[in-house]
Amino acid sequence: MALKEFINVGDARITVEKEVKPKLTIAELTTIEQPGRPVPASQLENEGEKRKGVGRGGARKEGARKEPSRISSPKREYTLILTEKPQAAQKIAFALGNPQKRIEGRVSYFELEKGGKKILVASAVGHLFNLSYVKGQRGYPMFKLEWNPSYETKAMSYTKAYYDLLKKLGRKSNEFIIATDYDIEGEVIGWNIVRFIFGQKSAKRMKYSTLTKPELEKSYDNLMAEPDWGMAYAGETRHILDWLYGINLSRALMSAIKTSGSFKILSIGRVQGPALKIIVDRELEIENFKPEPFWQVLAYSNGIEFKHPKDIFDKKLLEKFKSIKEAIAETKKTEEHIQPPVPFDLTTLQREAYRWHGISPSGTLQAAQKLYLDGLISYPRTSSQQIPDSVEPKKILKLLEKNFPQAKLATRAKPIEGKKSDPAHPSIFPTGEFKVLTENELKLYNLIVKRFISVFAPDAVTANKRIVLTTEVLDEEGKPVIFNANGLNVLEKGWTQIYPHKFEEFELPDLNGKVKIDEIKFEDKETQPPKRFTPASLITILEKKGLGTKTTRSIIIDILFNRGYLEGNSIKATALGIQLIRTLEKHSSIIIDENLTRKMEDEMDAIQFSKEKNLLDKEKEVISKAEKIITDISKEFKIKEMVIGKELLEGLQTHRRVEQENNTIIKCPTCKEGMLRIIYSGKTKRSFIGCSAYPNCKQTYTLPPNSLIKKSEKTCVECGFPMLMSIRKGKRPWEFCFNSNCPTVKKRIEEWQKKKDAVGEKAAGEKAS
Ligand SMILES: [Zn+2]
Ligand SMILES: [Zn+2]
Repeated sequence: MALKEFINVGDARITVEKEVKPKLTIAELTTIEQPGRPVPASQLENEGEKRKGVGRGGARKEGARKEPSRISSPKREYTLILTEKPQAAQKIAFALGNPQKRIEGRVSYFELEKGGKKILVASAVGHLFNLSYVKGQRGYPMFKLEWNPSYETKAMSYTKAYYDLLKKLGRKSNEFIIATDYDIEGEVIGWNIVRFIFGQKSAKRMKYSTLTKPELEKSYDNLMAEPDWGMAYAGETRHILDWLYGINLSRALMSAIKTSGSFKILSIGRVQGPALKIIVDRELEIENFKPEPFWQVLAYSNGIEFKHPKDIFDKKLLEKFKSIKEAIAETKKTEEHIQPPVPFDLTTLQREAYRWHGISPSGTLQAAQKLYLDGLISYPRTSSQQIPDSVEPKKILKLLEKNFPQAKLATRAKPIEGKKSDPAHPSIFPTGEFKVLTENELKLYNLIVKRFISVFAPDAVTANKRIVLTTEVLDEEGKPVIFNANGLNVLEKGWTQIYPHKFEEFELPDLNGKVKIDEIKFEDKETQPPKRFTPASLITILEKKGLGTKTTRSIIIDILFNRGYLEGNSIKATALGIQLIRTLEKHSSIIIDENLTRKMEDEMDAIQFSKEKNLLDKEKEVISKAEKIITDISKEFKIKEMVIGKELLEGLQTHRRVEQENNTIIKCPTCKEGMLRIIYSGKTKRSFIGCSAYPNCKQTYTLPPNSLIKKSEKTCVECGFPMLMSIRKGKRPWEFCFNSNCPTVKKRIEEWQKKKDAVGEKAAGEKAS
């Protein structure tokens, strides 16, 4: 990035202030799962023939769109293996044989022979079909949905090349194997392609948790005869429910806000509502919190500080402590064995990655997905905390030894395991393969490896010491007043040599018999309000409450941030978020009812794990229940539309006021009339600082690109300008002075220039040699 670019001011033209956030599309408002976009075949804007909807629920509309067999059918001689992402296709092709890579329409696929069979391995690129509403429906509620090819939406037009290739390869094949990620999303992706592109009722299924040669070979040799129908139907049900909720509630909210004459896209989803309510409730708890004073009583003897175990809330009770002059000391020693932490499931990984490296839960999911596709770790979307023998952990530990000598410490025969399990996958573990990685991926990879090694490492052992002082003074229950001091020494580091862990070591001498108390001290304290959630603690509570799935939770949190309902790393609900929940609570509380959301999750789980055959009936039942609830909500909304609109508008206005305050910095030093403000330019797609007296005052300052700019608490020591903070994804926030006339800024440019020259010289030198 050119540092100079944002420091030098130049004659920047001011663009009209625009809303920072781009308008959301209906698809964005309703999509929870974001299918990844590896290597978009972007230039392929070929609109192609527009397809009709393909219906939903497979069986119901089976055959609704038969391919006209204009082209004479080629010989069907291949077995077609379908993966979710291009990288997985490559891994599978190379695991099964010596493939030939072919490219068509910029999309690659592989051809190989194995056991006399001709095999094609080709991939989707996430979802190739999306739900959309059947055209012609007006207002809300609307319930008619259909699966349509994703390429029909402009943002997903790059999927067309994949769609076309799969259709072509499908015509040459007589056996179909779904090898997408083994989870509900993967099953929906595979099933949709099998029924809508290949025109098949079913397919075989490859199930695997790592993209390694041995496991992929094993998986191919042990094909499942059918897709996992439970996952397929549960997945489709989830898509439909989220869609119906998303579109109808968003329409209801927008219709209400329009009655107030304002316009802003507001939305709320099936899980988003209850999730937002949790944060708003916490915010109100903090707001209404009245701190209570209390005292902590400390005693000093032999140079050691002792604490009275109870906090004292009644000041009068402090009196009796003042007379304490001596006590009987007793030292108790114990040895404590501390087991290694359990293997990583996704939530625990997200929590730990945030705790040790500050990586957000969605950032962790992304990086983990990448590591999985590289074959370095097992499938990350798992709730399991177990390491089954079939994983052959000892072999993996051996492989890890080369780069992680700590692996030699893994002496435990059986790993320590957690309670949670997952029918589809084991916990997250490294495969033993290596590759050069980027910063965040490497941090995450190291954390996963260390966790894996440590579950096979010995306990840590500490020597704990506790000295109890018993006095002759009695408390209000008639028991002697006591004081404690605790010491800790680490005897054996065990697994803590491998995985990060903080011990607070504290040396204490032995103390026994009668001792003199040198001083009694009262420390003034106040009860503290409950803490705000962090991204990591928020996914933990959503999991505990059974809201969302392991995969969607971090995405839901991101959505709530993007909609302007939440802010900060210590998560705060914005005025808009609070008002939205307050309004819904008053007028349509069912939208934010977490019990209802959880019940639906349970019903979808029931479909997923059902052993019965009538899954489609179950799907219909869940959906028709949801339709009834949405109908009720819509009725309620329509009656109270004006009131709801008025209340939401209040929230919006506060939100806008706060946003403007947050973006206003200081009085303009040039014209001394206007205020300097952070402005986002939609034209250049970056923020800059401009004067509110524009066009009379044309003062501007440039700002770093690709980052969120916020006010900081600090003032520049050199020039006295308030400092700003630049926040970039995956980077530490950086505080800087934006005043282009400030000495610190000039120095920064010089240093940058020097660095640039040095790099230039080095490059020149390398070329010369
Ligand atoms: Zn000005
Ligand atoms: Zn300065």
